[in-house]
Amino acid sequence: MSEVEPLRYHSTRSAGPTVPISQAIAAGLAPDGGLYVPEALPSIDPAAFDPHGTLADTAAILLAPFFAGDPLADELAAICVEAFTFDAPLHALPAHPNTMVLELFHGPTSAFKDFGARFLAACLRRLPRNDARPLTILVATSGDTGAAVAAAFHRKPNVRVVILYPDGLVSPRQAHQLGCFGDNVTALRVVGRFDDCQRMVKAALNDATLQAQLPLSSANSISLGRLLPQMSYYAHAALSWWREHHKPLNFIVPTGNLGNALACLWVREIGLPIGSLRLACNANTTLPDYFSGAPYTPREAVATLANAMDVGAPSNFDRLRWTYPDVHALREQLQAASVGDAAIRQTISNHAHEYGYVFCPHTATAAHLLDQLRASGDATPWTVVATAHPAKFESVVEPLIEQPLAVPASLAAMLARPASSEPLAANENALRQWLLQHAQA
Ligand SMILES: *Cc1c(COP(=O)(O)O)cnc(C)c1O
Repeated sequence: MSEVEPLRYHSTRSAGPTVPISQAIAAGLAPDGGLYVPEALPSIDPAAFDPHGTLADTAAILLAPFFAGDPLADELAAICVEAFTFDAPLHALPAHPNTMVLELFHGPTSAFKDFGARFLAACLRRLPRNDARPLTILVATSGDTGAAVAAAFHRKPNVRVVILYPDGLVSPRQAHQLGCFGDNVTALRVVGRFDDCQRMVKAALNDATLQAQLPLSSANSISLGRLLPQMSYYAHAALSWWREHHKPLNFIVPTGNLGNALACLWVREIGLPIGSLRLACNANTTLPDYFSGAPYTPREAVATLANAMDVGAPSNFDRLRWTYPDVHALREQLQAASVGDAAIRQTISNHAHEYGYVFCPHTATAAHLLDQLRASGDATPWTVVATAHPAKFESVVEPLIEQPLAVPASLAAMLARPASSEPLAANENALRQWLLQHAQA
């Protein structure tokens, strides 16, 4: 497909109508409740990329066919430069030869969510709005998304962010980070679970009377404005490995809502050198059960040490089914496994003591699967995807490694600021009332 041919998007629930990418990004969810997908995934020649290019350069070339024909196409390179101000280094792990860590935690809030949130903010800032009132962006977060979205929109004009997080179910430092912004950001600690937060946000977005009084949008993980930019670091890492070793790189991705893993899968689908892909899940086994042959059965999430992956109904599942409509093909194309809290603890402790590398609890699920592959004799090149900095989870990690963790400068600055949040009951009406009372803010 040539780069100038326009690419349009439709809902996973119907083949039409189609919309340009900027409309799909502005809307988040399709009007019929489905997820936006491209009419077809483009294919891209690995030779199209500059071997000396930055991550932002790789992103601009990779995403060009996805923005072809859209008003944002001319701005894409600038959007990538604005969003990707930090690296995604591919780090050799001393544990085994042929083993890498893709570190996605060097952004402002120390988790991979910064890539998507910053790209989405850079897109939304450029899209025209025919409403003079400030836009309220609602975010339900299981820990990391809320801070990334808050950081991306903090002090930006004519927009405010309202975060809903489950009280007591995020790490102490995550909670502090969510409450430390102030200005145009408010954190609401919901007396309930992540699923409650997500349900309350959805209800508010679908409430036409409420929307008429204050314009609402969301920044959840089903937005293409977050999914597409996440493809960039996989392309960048796989291409640099390919140039040096002439082999595809395999990835193990810590998985919750499937946004990060799907981005990796799409990079492979468009023709870049990615080999095997494995999904590492925590004790929430919806995906591992499905991949081992059971029917797809969404369920309530259970709380684990890898709290940002506590998902019982992965929100991007329909996009996975769209990518491989044949279920047998899908189950051949990738695999998923569950890693419990005991194995998470042991993996963090082992790697820290034996090799001096410290994983966050989420990344430890992927590292555990890698250890199993190596123990079974697999010597192919694997990359563990590191989704957050371990210092965000010091209350879990420090007792295991028996020493204090260095805190990244941006996280330390957030922890040094005062934090505040407001309590909110876990029901739709409580959020509605809160929003109406704060409509003038
Ligand atoms: C969000 C998150 C995940 C899960 O990513 P998905 O895209 O939802 O699958 C894993 N690890 C960390 C640290 C996260 O913040």
